[in-house]
Amino acid sequence: MINAPEGTRDLLPDEAAFWKEFQRIAADEFGKYGYVAIDTPIIEQTELFVRGIGEATDVVSKEMFTAISGENLKTLLGGGHIKGKSRLSLRPEGTAGVVRAVLQHDLVPQGAAPAKLMYAGPMFRAERPQKGRQRQFNQVGVECLGADDPTIDAEGIIMLMRFFERVGFAASDITLLVNSMGCDQCRPAYRELVREHLQAHADDLCETCLSRMELNPLRSFDCKNPDCAAIMETAPRITDHLCDECRDHYSRVRRLLDGAEIAYREDSRLVRGLDYYTRTVFEVQIADNDHAQNAIGGGGRYDRLAEEVGGRAMPGFGFALGYERCAIALAERGLMFPTARRCDVFVACATDDARDAAFELAQLCRDQAISTELDHQGRSLKSQFKLADKLNARFVVILGSDELSQGLVKIRNMVNHDEQLVDVQLAVATLGSLM
Ligand code: AMP
Repeated sequence: MINAPEGTRDLLPDEAAFWKEFQRIAADEFGKYGYVAIDTPIIEQTELFVRGIGEATDVVSKEMFTAISGENLKTLLGGGHIKGKSRLSLRPEGTAGVVRAVLQHDLVPQGAAPAKLMYAGPMFRAERPQKGRQRQFNQVGVECLGADDPTIDAEGIIMLMRFFERVGFAASDITLLVNSMGCDQCRPAYRELVREHLQAHADDLCETCLSRMELNPLRSFDCKNPDCAAIMETAPRITDHLCDECRDHYSRVRRLLDGAEIAYREDSRLVRGLDYYTRTVFEVQIADNDHAQNAIGGGGRYDRLAEEVGGRAMPGFGFALGYERCAIALAERGLMFPTARRCDVFVACATDDARDAAFELAQLCRDQAISTELDHQGRSLKSQFKLADKLNARFVVILGSDELSQGLVKIRNMVNHDEQLVDVQLAVATLGSLM
C-alpha cells in the first residue's frame, strides 16, 4: 500500500467541496475590490525564487523542492550540469510567479491602472511536517502591481479581514498585526543597527542567529530561542528609524484602517520571512491558539520585487492566506460549514426489468440540469431508498412494473412524503417544476 507523501494531505470530497466554497467566497469578496483571477505555473525557473524571495531566506535556502525532468536527471547522474533555464522548482509561494507573469505579459503598461490579481492553489515547502505545517499546502492570495498608494495596502487588509469574517471567524478569534519595514532609503541603516545589536550579544545567540547575523539579521526577530528572543526585545525598533516617506505611508495606512474600524496591533518586531517586503507588512494570527502555527495569513508591500526579478520598477502589494490553517481553526470552532452532498432526484426501480428505463429517465433529468443519481449495484428497493436518503435526495422517482405497464411513475417528496403518480412522459417536466 502506497500512502500520500509525508506532509501532504488528501482533500476528500467533503473537504474538497469546502475548499471550493472557501475559494468562491474569496473570489466574491476580493472581486468587490476589483481583483480578478490569474493562474500561473506550479513550476518556475529556480532563479525566479532565488532572485525574488532572496537566497538567504529559509524558504529558498532550505525549503524549496527542485523539479528534475527525466532527461535532466540522467544528465545529473552522468555528472553533467543542468543549464539555468532548465533549473526548475515547485513554487514555495505565489507572489514571485504572479509578478513574473505581469512583467512577461506587460499587464501594467506605463500609465495604466494597477493590475489586481488573485490566485488559489498549492504551494510547496520542504519543511518538517507538523500540525498546520505541510509540504504541500493551499494558499489563496492577491497581488496588486503598479500602485504604491497606501489605499492599496489598506483596502487589501480590509478585504482580507472581511473575508475571514465571512468564512466564520469572529473578530475576537483573530489578531491583526501591522508594521512597516521601511524602504531602500531607511532599511539598510536600520539593518546595520540590528546587526550591531546582535554583534554585541553574539555570545548568547543561537547558532542560526549567529550564522544569519551578517546576511539577514532581521530574521532574528522570528527566532523562537528564548535567549535570542530576550536579546531581540531590546533591539532597535524599525518604526523609530523610518524615513519621512515611509513614516507618512505607514501612518496613512493606519489612519485608513482606523477609519474602517479595523482592529489591529502594531508590532515593530514583525518582519516577514521573505526578503522582498518594503513598507507595510502584516500578519493575521489566530488569537487564542496554542499551536505553534498560528499565522493564518500575511503579506505586505514589495516595491522592489519587480526589479529584483529583472523587470522595470513597479510597486506591489499582496498577501496570502493558508487554507489548511484556516480549516483547522474553523473546525476547532465547529465552523467548518457543511458541504453535504446533495442530489435533487434519485431514480429507484422496484424490479430489475425497470433498470434500463431508470437509466434513461435519470439521463433525461440530468439533461434538464436536475442532478440525478440511481443505483448501480443491483440493490433492493428498500436499500435504494436508504441510499437516496444518504444522498439527501429531495425526490425519489419509483419505477414499478405495474405503474410502468400503465405508462406511469411515482414521485415521492422525501421531505414531506407526498406522493404523486405522473405520466412517464411528463416525469421530467414535473420534476423540473418541483425544483
Ligand atoms: P507565507 O507565504 O509564509 O507568508 O505564508 C502565508 C500563509 O500560508 C501563512 O500565514 C500560513 O497560513 C500558510 N502557510 C505557510 N507555510 C505553510 C505550511 N508549510 N503549511 C501550511 N500552511 C502554510
